[in-house]
Amino acid sequence: MTTNLKQALKTHFGFDTFRSKLQEDVVKAVQRGDRDVFVCMPTGAGKSLCYQLPAVLAEGITLVISPLIALIQDQVDHLKELNIPACSINSKLPVSERRLILADLGSSNPKLKLLYITPEMVASPAFQPCLMDLCSRGLLSYLAVDEAHCVSQWGHDFRPDYLKLGELRARLQGVPCLALTATAPKNVQEDIIQSLRLSSPLSFLTPVFRSNLHYDVIFRELLPNPYVHLCAFIKKTLSLGGGSNGQGCGIVYCRTREGCETVAHQLTKLGVVAKPYHAGLKATDRTGVQNEWMQGKVLVIVATISFGMGVDKANVRFVAHWNLAKSLASYYQESGRAGRDGLPSACRTYYSPRDKEQINFLIRQEVARKQEKRGFAKDTDKTAMTDFEAMVSFCEQEGCRHATISKFFGNTAPNCAGACDYCRNPKLVRAQLERAATLSTKIGAAQSSEPKGAFGFQPDTYGGGKKGYGFERYDEGEGYSEDDPFKRKKEFSELFKKQMSMRKGNDSSQREEFVPPDIDCPLREASSQRIPKLSVKAREHCLYLLQEALQGQQGAEDALKYLSRFIQIFFFFFF
Ligand code: ADP
Ligand code: MG
Ligand code: ZN
Repeated sequence: MTTNLKQALKTHFGFDTFRSKLQEDVVKAVQRGDRDVFVCMPTGAGKSLCYQLPAVLAEGITLVISPLIALIQDQVDHLKELNIPACSINSKLPVSERRLILADLGSSNPKLKLLYITPEMVASPAFQPCLMDLCSRGLLSYLAVDEAHCVSQWGHDFRPDYLKLGELRARLQGVPCLALTATAPKNVQEDIIQSLRLSSPLSFLTPVFRSNLHYDVIFRELLPNPYVHLCAFIKKTLSLGGGSNGQGCGIVYCRTREGCETVAHQLTKLGVVAKPYHAGLKATDRTGVQNEWMQGKVLVIVATISFGMGVDKANVRFVAHWNLAKSLASYYQESGRAGRDGLPSACRTYYSPRDKEQINFLIRQEVARKQEKRGFAKDTDKTAMTDFEAMVSFCEQEGCRHATISKFFGNTAPNCAGACDYCRNPKLVRAQLERAATLSTKIGAAQSSEPKGAFGFQPDTYGGGKKGYGFERYDEGEGYSEDDPFKRKKEFSELFKKQMSMRKGNDSSQREEFVPPDIDCPLREASSQRIPKLSVKAREHCLYLLQEALQGQQGAEDALKYLSRFIQIFFFFFF
């Protein structure tokens, strides 16, 4: 059978070998057809082939459920290029084409091998008779549910229509079902199996543990110069070399565009040429940077997480997170871009409790926004928070980092054998945590009027991440769009000049001579006594959030740039 399969792999798909033993095993299990199958393999591992090859070799038709028309189109085009009869029925399909497809499906000997549909379409009454007819004639070979995590309310891409697939599954008696996903923490896996009503499925999971990756966490606030630290790390990891793939390279992930620019600039200044990559760059510049990095002309790319999707480079020697990832699942995925060639590689997070508070706040804000739109709260609103908390405890706990990740994905704790900072030297990890705790209390004491939280900041106190920060007026842009922009610009430039002249000579005593803003200045309110306990940390935090909120907006970019600059300077001078 193996030779036949290999032959078919070559004939239909042009591949000489399976991508992995796992891929081969899945194909065989699917082809046997006696059990449901659950597959969890990372992106790019070749999951599609796990049902496409059995589909080509089967008598009947394989029904593939995929969440997006774009994804479907991509796959269908690819299959057509390979001369494999595949098509998709979706809402965008012209009626005439749909008729042709339905006619083929209704014929005694349909030519079609793979039929792709969205879950919405599966549920449509118009399609049901056709499906049941195929099933009763024994012409449905397999039901493949791609991106199966969409079925789980715990997953990040939950789609209500995926829930209907359970019923569909139940109606398609005797048709083996295959569920595929790339990211599945334990609770999501369980959800998938339960929701799709898979009966004691055979599970194929790529082991989470990758022994060639060394994980560690560095508390950024404790470093005298974080950039020098990062630079040393990069030099060390790049000297590990890239094996037969030539000189190794690396990725530094930052959360914001400014972060990317700053870090890239600092690294370059310190002698490690690094280039920024983020959505704020022109598309051509972005592609340029990516290509330079892919070709090894630039070894270090400093990017937001928009970089990396579909990037498959074997000799990535390090992935450093300058800011905390938003969940442990995404951290695993992002850091997992290191060491694809199996050679030793380093994954480092520069942890900062300030980052923690900021992301914490952003997640709450996002959740609140969604709830407001929806009109009610949901259990799943907690998911984002729990996933983030898993990331935080990964950084803050005393324990094996690999074990934390493996357990999060439902695997047993692996034999780390010194592949993380904790296993290599638990005392160092403890010492770092103690120093961070000391620093935190020091800062807390310095802001004694402040409610105590990590580094003196306590989001709940300020309204649980909604109102109460005293900045919503700027955020909501009260007056800014209606007002005369030129007047504002003039106001701003006068204020700026005045403040600059006050600052000249850098004499801090001059700050005392600060003149309060004019009565009609829109920012006057915040410098008054309305929010007397706002600490410097919290103010900085607000500034940060404002900038980020502004960056997130598209469209009226100039106005936003101006507003952003205004606010920045405002915070700088007025507090
Ligand atoms: P996934 O769905 O797991 O993210 P895909 O099914 O999209 O991955 O496959 C990723 C890439 O791997 C595709 O370009 C596919 O053609 C390729 N691929 C799949 N199987 C093999 C194989 N056996 N040999 C070589 N390339 C393969
Ligand atoms: Mg896929
Ligand atoms: Zn360990």
